Amino acid sequence: MTDLILSEPPVIERNAHGASPFLLTCDHYGRAIPDALGNLGLPERELTRHIAWDIGIAGVAEQVSDALGAHLIAQRYSRLVIDCNRPPEVASSIPVLSEATPVPGNEGISRADADARRAEIFEPYHNRIDEAIDARLRDGRPTVLVSLHSFTPVYAGVARPWHIGTLYHRDTTLAPLLLKLLRAEGDLVVGDNQPYAVSDVTDFTIPVHGEKRGLMNTGIEIRQDLIADEAGQTQWAERLTRLLREIEATLVTPRSAHV
Ligand SMILES: [Zn+2]
Repeated sequence: MTDLILSEPPVIERNAHGASPFLLTCDHYGRAIPDALGNLGLPERELTRHIAWDIGIAGVAEQVSDALGAHLIAQRYSRLVIDCNRPPEVASSIPVLSEATPVPGNEGISRADADARRAEIFEPYHNRIDEAIDARLRDGRPTVLVSLHSFTPVYAGVARPWHIGTLYHRDTTLAPLLLKLLRAEGDLVVGDNQPYAVSDVTDFTIPVHGEKRGLMNTGIEIRQDLIADEAGQTQWAERLTRLLREIEATLVTPRSAHV
C-alpha cells in the first residue's frame, strides 16, 4: 500500500462539545489533495470547480455550527481523491470521470492505492462520526443528523431552479418539517428530494449514520451561486439557524416543556 502521508488530518471539527441536538456533517467541505497525488492530472481551474468540492458550504456549515452550538464534523480532502458520501465499493467513490471531466490521476488506480485513500481519508472521517454518535447515544443526548451540501447551478448544461433542497429516504419526519418551513419563507424555490434524492448506492452519510443508527436525519443542498461569497454564506447560515431552532423546538423539546 502506498501511504499518502497527509500533511493535514482529514477530519475538521467545530463545537465538539456544543449542546445542540443537531450533529452537522460536511462530506465535501474541502478541496485539498494529498501531496503524493500531485494535482490528479488536472489543471488548477478544474480543482476549484464544483467537481472538486461543495463550493460555499464550508462557510455556511461553520456559521450554523457556531450559532447553534452544534457539533460539526467535516472532511478536508477533495471528493476527487475519494468521495466521502459514496460507499467505497462503488465506481464513483474514486471517480475517473466527474461530470464531463476525466480525472487522469484516478485512471487505472491500483487496489492498494484505492485502499490507502480509503484508510487515510474516508475511514477516519466516518469513524469520527460513528464515535460522536456513540458518545451522544451513551449520554442519552437527542441527536438529529443534518448533512450539509451545495449543488452547482448548472449541471450537464441544464439550469437548476431550486435555491435549496432537502434530501431524504427512510426518515419521513425531519425532511417534511424542514420542507414546510422552507416553503413558508415565501421567497424560495424548494426542492423536495431535488436536485438529488438519497439512496444506498449514491450516498453514505445519511444511510449509514442516519438511517442505520435510527437517527432523525436530512440532507440539505444549497445552490452554490447563492453562497459563493461571505455575505451569501452568512445570509443562508442565519436562515438555516433560525429554521433549525424552530425544528428543535418542535421535535426535540418534550411537549410537556411547553405547558
Ligand atoms: Zn456534497
